[in-house]
Amino acid sequence: MDCIFCKIIAGEIPSQKVYEDETVYAFKDINPMAPVHVLIVPKQHIASVNEVTAENSAVIAHIYEVASQLAKELGVAEDGYRIVTNCGKNAGQTVFHLHFHLLGGTPLKIEMC
Ligand code: 5GP
Ligand code: ZN
Repeated sequence: MDCIFCKIIAGEIPSQKVYEDETVYAFKDINPMAPVHVLIVPKQHIASVNEVTAENSAVIAHIYEVASQLAKELGVAEDGYRIVTNCGKNAGQTVFHLHFHLLGGTPLKIEMC
């Protein structure tokens, strides 16, 4: 499958890994928008939130557990951070492998759109 994040998970494209387990992979965004900008992705290829179903949604809950842990480890839990998932064209999704941006380390813009 021609998916850049599947290739990163497989180790075919290098990445700065911050966390990995059986179902989740997390790595630094190549174009950080904040001092802390990590992408947390399911290892299973799910294109976007549009493809989340009862069959695969357990990994989403697990991603939030990982996000909570990583926020502490990366030192942003206390001051706060944002988790963002873009879905589709109007949200500006550019990589069609579901991913959660964890952003922090500075006050973030309040505007949601
Ligand atoms: P989206 O715009 O789809 O919500 O987010 C995609 C994110 O993936 C962007 O923030 C972009 O910088 C990041 N990205 C794209 N290609 C790569 C890559 O090869 N390596 C890493 N580490 N991040 C990438
Ligand atoms: Zn993929």
